[in-house]
Amino acid sequence: MVLAELGGSISRALQQMSNATIIDEKVLNDCLNEITRALLQADVQFMLVRDMKNNIKKIVNLEELAAGHNKRRIIQEAIYNELCKILDPGKPSFALKKGKTSIVMFVGLQGSGKTTTCTKYAYHHQKKGWKPALVCADTFRAGAFDQLKQNATKAKIPFYGSYTESDPVRIAVEGVERFKQENCDLIIVDTSGRHKQEAALFEEMRQVSEATKPDLVIFVMDSSIGQAAFDQAQAFKQSVAVGAVIITKMDGHAKGGGALSAVAATKSPIIFIGTGEHMDEFEVFDVKPFVKRLLG
Ligand code: GDP
Repeated sequence: MVLAELGGSISRALQQMSNATIIDEKVLNDCLNEITRALLQADVQFMLVRDMKNNIKKIVNLEELAAGHNKRRIIQEAIYNELCKILDPGKPSFALKKGKTSIVMFVGLQGSGKTTTCTKYAYHHQKKGWKPALVCADTFRAGAFDQLKQNATKAKIPFYGSYTESDPVRIAVEGVERFKQENCDLIIVDTSGRHKQEAALFEEMRQVSEATKPDLVIFVMDSSIGQAAFDQAQAFKQSVAVGAVIITKMDGHAKGGGALSAVAATKSPIIFIGTGEHMDEFEVFDVKPFVKRLLG
């Protein structure tokens, strides 16, 4: 993950500042500019970086630094707090209750890893004693149902879909109904993606959402999306009530900064990250350990 390089760049900037005999405005600015550059290179959105820099300048007191306090630690702490603030929208996502039926709808662009992530999410909960089920309401991508069926079979999770029905709303409603009757407590609805943000995709999402009334809508985003992350996440949030985010492909060469943008744009927490193609390459996301790792 290239995001790890960010920690190295930030550490170097802090070290340079610590080495300076006098910490004045210029030394602090140079340090913050270095850090800003590193964050932008990691694909964190420009506006988030700018606000973060301004906040740190407000928090960090030059006189305190000059008085010989541990400069490196003071600034590092300010950066740590700011990054945590960006990644923590301040409210947790909807809490599922075991034994009580919850409907969770997955949305995202085609190729983001949505279908794979649906199964990972179901499998994760199944291991913890839930009774999940998968509904394939993706009638747009040829092979989507086969893929979901194959994954679900491997994980021994019940599934619902159709090779002939072309109305995703109908499939979603039928699937949800069936699994309610079978007393599943976690009904996961996989929706269609598109290669890019399109009006037709958003309209379809809205209709599936209206018909199935999900308790939680999860937005799945590929971590390699880069600077486009903010606009993409915002477009989804404007169409359906996104309540949580899952970032996929964190194992790849992605710079990962888009994760911060997705939280800012949807005001929703990241709940899991995908770290590989396999079913169990899936981790619960916690802000503090993530940022600690990020800063090296
Ligand atoms: P969808 O079109 O959004 O449903 O995407 P898919 O679930 O079909 O995933 C697209 C590709 O990304 C597939 O080849 C998946 O195996 C792969 N993929 C999904 N999640 C991850 C991940 O966390 N890491 C890696 N390396 N590959 C992933």
